Amino acid sequence: MSARILIVEDEEKLARFIELELVHEGYEVKKSGNGREALDIAQDEDFDLILLDIMLPGLNGLEVLRRLQKVKQVPVILLTARDAVNDKVAGLDAGAVDYITKPFAIEELLARIRVALKIHAPKKEPSKEADVHEEGTITWGSLVMNIPSHTVRYNGHEIFLTNREFLMLRTLLENQNIVLSRDTLLNRVCGYDFIGETNIVDVYIRYLRSKIDNVFQVKMIHTVRGVGYVIKSDHT
Ligand code: CA
Repeated sequence: MSARILIVEDEEKLARFIELELVHEGYEVKKSGNGREALDIAQDEDFDLILLDIMLPGLNGLEVLRRLQKVKQVPVILLTARDAVNDKVAGLDAGAVDYITKPFAIEELLARIRVALKIHAPKKEPSKEADVHEEGTITWGSLVMNIPSHTVRYNGHEIFLTNREFLMLRTLLENQNIVLSRDTLLNRVCGYDFIGETNIVDVYIRYLRSKIDNVFQVKMIHTVRGVGYVIKSDHT
């Protein structure tokens, strides 16, 4: 079953563009350009994820988020303006799971949506669909990450990772071939406490490389200068 996503965005062109991309990806989409209307829709209907602009007519996005959080648990990704640091902090404080700064590359939005849906997916009966997570494992060449047992092995050798290293590696492995920005990784791994200190991401990448790349003589995590990090599925 495809995930249902509510797009709350009053810039019609942008809303339409996001809608087309999401539908193309197989999501079921509804959209609203008014905060008050969006709050009504979000309360009446069930969504797996909400993309929420902050500057909205009717009711601003942060207020929509605060009111919605009181009655419902649904992951929200904020669409924020560049430099609106206060909005980002307030949004994350109010319970948003992530934010993305406009203008953004659609690939990055799609990546964040996938991550948010995976992390916040409601507990369901295990599905029979073919999926890299069918048995709770993700692989990269000889590396196998087992999510339920929280272990990582390379050719059978166990690699001991801290929680944050594990989360960062998991995020990269789940988004193979997608370059993730330091902001994205930071949000996944540290939450909002560390906003602004994106160099902490570089530190964790260094730890991961010292435990995996350097030990097993592989090039797993690639740096994309000025953008972020990526694990490529082509590991030969
Ligand atoms: Ca707006």
